[in-house]
Amino acid sequence: MGHSTTATLSSRFNRVKAELESACREAGRAADSVQLIAVSKTRSADEVAELASLGQRDFAENYVQEALEKITALPGRNLCWHFIGPIQSNKSRDIASHFAWVHSVDRDRIARRLNDQRPDGLPPLNVCIQVNIDDEDSKSGISPEQVPALAALITTLPRLRLRGLMAIPRPDSADRGASAFRRLAMTLSSLGNTMPGLDTLSMGMSDDFDVAIREGATHIRIGTALFGPRPAKP
Ligand SMILES: *Cc1c(COP(=O)(O)O)cnc(C)c1O
Repeated sequence: MGHSTTATLSSRFNRVKAELESACREAGRAADSVQLIAVSKTRSADEVAELASLGQRDFAENYVQEALEKITALPGRNLCWHFIGPIQSNKSRDIASHFAWVHSVDRDRIARRLNDQRPDGLPPLNVCIQVNIDDEDSKSGISPEQVPALAALITTLPRLRLRGLMAIPRPDSADRGASAFRRLAMTLSSLGNTMPGLDTLSMGMSDDFDVAIREGATHIRIGTALFGPRPAKP
């Protein structure tokens, strides 16, 4: 890894952290109330290692096979891995075995499989329910109305720990996702009336994390702003 690449990654990392802190300040929130998750999909294990050496601990991946290669290539660094992609049934065992968090749980069957497949020696898997907050055909996730039933199921599964909700607003809204983020926050807070311990709003990406922080995000998932533009998929 060349010196100039490190310098670029390091300056992007510092810029994102500064923007996170200023968004928190403007929102009257403590800077440590928002967790920065580095989305490392399409990035090499070397790039992950580089960012880890700068102090980043939380990394997120969308594709299981790609993730497993990096996770096995980077042992013993105390990294925390988050799964944020669509979940196929035949991949649930790998996800349950290798990740600490799953942000994209969207159906009963997957919740049950993750619970059954979570290895005994590991702590319960932290999960968020993915909500299709703008009701887009192209997006995964369930409607806000369906959230209470899935949440209720997850709380009966001992190897899962329900933490909160995740969403990706439509990319082209005039308010940069503000009303969608607010609806997600309201969905979490009404769920919290009957379910204690929910503490996670996983929302905000490179283009809108300042807005998400203003609306209460606790976990922001940042790829491009840290690593630069992703290579186009073949
Ligand atoms: C790719 C991805 C991100 C990161 O997006 P950027 O715009 O590159 O920050 C965040 N969340 C999910 C679910 C993603 O798939």
